[in-house]
Amino acid sequence: MAELLASGGTPEMVRAVLDNGADAVYVGAKGWSRRRAQYEMGDDQIIESAAYARSLGKVLRVAFNTLPASREFPLFLSKTEKFYKAGIRDFILTDVGAMAVLSRRFPGVQIHASVGCTIINAEDARFYKEAGATQIVAECRMGREEMRRIKEEAGVGLEVLVHATTCYTLLGRCTMSSYTRQEWRIDEEGKNHFLGSPNRGGLCYRVCLTEWDQVGEGGETEARGVILPNTAYFLVDDIPSLIDMGVDTIKIQGREYSVPLVGEMVRFYRELIDAYVNDRRSFRLEPWKERMAGIVRARDAERREKTAGLLSESLIAS
Ligand code: SF4
Repeated sequence: MAELLASGGTPEMVRAVLDNGADAVYVGAKGWSRRRAQYEMGDDQIIESAAYARSLGKVLRVAFNTLPASREFPLFLSKTEKFYKAGIRDFILTDVGAMAVLSRRFPGVQIHASVGCTIINAEDARFYKEAGATQIVAECRMGREEMRRIKEEAGVGLEVLVHATTCYTLLGRCTMSSYTRQEWRIDEEGKNHFLGSPNRGGLCYRVCLTEWDQVGEGGETEARGVILPNTAYFLVDDIPSLIDMGVDTIKIQGREYSVPLVGEMVRFYRELIDAYVNDRRSFRLEPWKERMAGIVRARDAERREKTAGLLSESLIAS
């Protein structure tokens, strides 16, 4: 059966995720995972949380899904070695060089190629498999046909986001925030942080969600207040077909949401998956859609607040 994976932004969230029925939880190594430090975890917290996951027979996966410079590789290797020695075998990476090094250094580690890899077809999936990935995350807009081809042709695990944001651009290739935060610093461990680049240790400031002017070829303003498409979605209708297709992991993003909301999302998907798997014949989607509507309202309220904070921070800094 498909693994249910959800995000743990804090040790408290890790427990809520696992206690509400997730099979696995992912956490960000501090400075390395495309999120603000408050949603990432220190090494000791990660090791303790992994022990908790193992005590339940579950998995903790550590995200290092930024792109390191050569000078950052020794730090990457010393951190991953520390986690490996503590019994952690599961990692989420974006950088192909990092995948190749980690899979050679620690045979048997499970490496998931992050959504930031922008994997959009079976050839991409094969490429990441050759680099050392054991599983790939489907790009958010990927259709069922492409997923089927990856499952059939690439011979690598497939992970699908059921709660995430469909970026205006492709997530791993977006540089919009770097125009609004042009600061750079090195932290106490020697990790680079280009503050406007989530791919390089900074943040996405969701600048695509501000209001834009549309300018014509002659420089004239054609429209003001244009909103670019970028939606946060939940998949409900698709869960049965994803399970039937043999998707390996069903993933819920959302480290920046509150612990009760993340726990509620996990509980919802746990019960939905179990209900479908236990009785496919009499399974009906309608009650689940009604229940999801309440979760969407709560998520949207928290998302509006977070987006407003990020946007104002980016504009102040620009
Ligand atoms: S700025 Fe918008 S399109 Fe770019 S990564 Fe952030 S949310 Fe995605």
